Amino acid sequence: MFENVLEVGENPAELVVYASLGKAARSWPHAKAIVRALLDLEEGETLVLQSGAPVGVIATHAGAPMVVSAVNNTVGRWSGSDRFYERADRGETMWGGLTAAAWQYIGRQGVLQGTYELLRIIAERHLGGATASNLAGRWLLTAGLGGMGSSQPISARMLGLSSITVEVDGDKIRRLVDAGGLDVACERLDDALQQMNAAHQQGRVLAIGLRGNACDVFEALVARSVTADVVTDQTAAHDARYGYVPSGYTIERWMAERESEPRVVESAARASIARQVGAMLTMCDRGAIAFENGNNLRVQAIEHLGESASSTVMRIPGFMEAYLRTLFCRGIGPFRWVVLSGDERDLAVVDDLVSAMFPARPEVADWIALARRYVPVQGLPARSCWLGHGERSALALAVNDLVADATITAPVLFSRDHLDAAGMTNPRIGTEGMRDGSDGVTDWPLLDSMLLAACGADLVAVHSGGGGYSGWMQSAGVSVVADGTAAAGDRLKRALDADTGLGVLRHLNAGYGEALEAAGRGGETRGVPLAWFDVKKEDYDA
Ligand code: NAD
Repeated sequence: MFENVLEVGENPAELVVYASLGKAARSWPHAKAIVRALLDLEEGETLVLQSGAPVGVIATHAGAPMVVSAVNNTVGRWSGSDRFYERADRGETMWGGLTAAAWQYIGRQGVLQGTYELLRIIAERHLGGATASNLAGRWLLTAGLGGMGSSQPISARMLGLSSITVEVDGDKIRRLVDAGGLDVACERLDDALQQMNAAHQQGRVLAIGLRGNACDVFEALVARSVTADVVTDQTAAHDARYGYVPSGYTIERWMAERESEPRVVESAARASIARQVGAMLTMCDRGAIAFENGNNLRVQAIEHLGESASSTVMRIPGFMEAYLRTLFCRGIGPFRWVVLSGDERDLAVVDDLVSAMFPARPEVADWIALARRYVPVQGLPARSCWLGHGERSALALAVNDLVADATITAPVLFSRDHLDAAGMTNPRIGTEGMRDGSDGVTDWPLLDSMLLAACGADLVAVHSGGGGYSGWMQSAGVSVVADGTAAAGDRLKRALDADTGLGVLRHLNAGYGEALEAAGRGGETRGVPLAWFDVKKEDYDA
């Protein structure tokens, strides 16, 4: 999996996997030492990773994790982005992303279903329904075709929405045209609009990559009174130094000056982001549905405009709070698996299995059918599929049986995005606007990682933000391998149920009554009931 995240990553030569600077290991000497340690690791030993560096191998026991990893968890003034960059430059830390340093990244597919679900809910709630006929002639405006951003036009197309995705780097556009994720590359806005209108007149859906700067193009659309139906952005705006090219900069100038004049570049990037957000707000006034797609775009705009602009900028909702939290309440989140044989026939076996396993939730089989049709393989064959409490362990155990009887030819790794029900604290993404105000409380990912280690998951990670996310987040990651043994079955069942179970309890604790359904009261238990304490404020006041 370490090698796989580099194979499907954005800049493997620099160990960069995605999200601007999210790395798989701190440096190449550290990477080589990690590989050596993994190859030498014995049963009953655990490799300890600290901010992408191997610090040692500790004698544990056969049921313990093989790898535990903590990245850039810092407190006080150590947690600001300036201190992060200084320490990263001295080789003392790195930004591990969520799934980069936990070796769980599976390419653009990782967030594909999240974006698809999000657009589907928006279509149902605001556009009169998510059917292809209803969405004919409608379009998404967005930006950024990097590791995660390149999932956007594919998700939109799956629903029947056209899209224009603005990207400064022509190579990124060509790469996605070649991979089949975009239909055409355009150099001029007029051309893009003309091609989209022509496609709509012919009843076609079109995914366009437009070379340009998001700030300039969004403003140009406002000036022409052209309003998208849905508008967002997935540049790496969270990092004002390394993630967003300011208006007026070529890529070459940006790359040179972010090293020589980092402060100037950061402030120019924030000014451009503020202009882009201004254009998005105007589009909202003209009827577009806008949301922030997990990249701190609004925080950067507010940093430039000042706190007084906060209530205006925050009219753009975050995607989690506005659209996806109800799924997290039920423990349903971005589960994924990777077939370690590398053989697509093994992936097909799991696809068939999961399609048949959850008839009460037909959306699962529908998603697998769409993913089979639209998602090209990147690296080891993998699938992302939003499953809930009890569903994940049921699937993993069934797959473990198929590995045992050699129907599947090699072990299968189960994992998830860190942005999951229990795994994430980020008051601007995963936990924005929690009902009890617990947006910034990081006890939950810490409890999650402790439980996962106690349950014997194979890899357990606790990562904090780096770069522009410094001080903004903490998350837990988990991987468990189904190798066909009974011991693996025990680990899978315990760890996956603990993970989703804590996710349900975290939401129940925050006042989301919806979580009761997954917890086993008044609804389906999926065979995995939870027990919880319900001590109310009135009780302890008394
Ligand atoms: P990336 O660094 O791989 O790609 C960013 C892309 O934006 C690059 O291709 C870059 O050329 C382009 N870009 C930069 N400035 C631009 C500008 N002004 N105009 C047009 N294009 C510009 O990053 P990524 O992995 O695609 O992640 C994008 C963002 O999404 C990050 O902030 C990341 O943290 C966030 N993210 C969100 C989720 C989620 O669940 N929604 C998940 C993972 C990551």
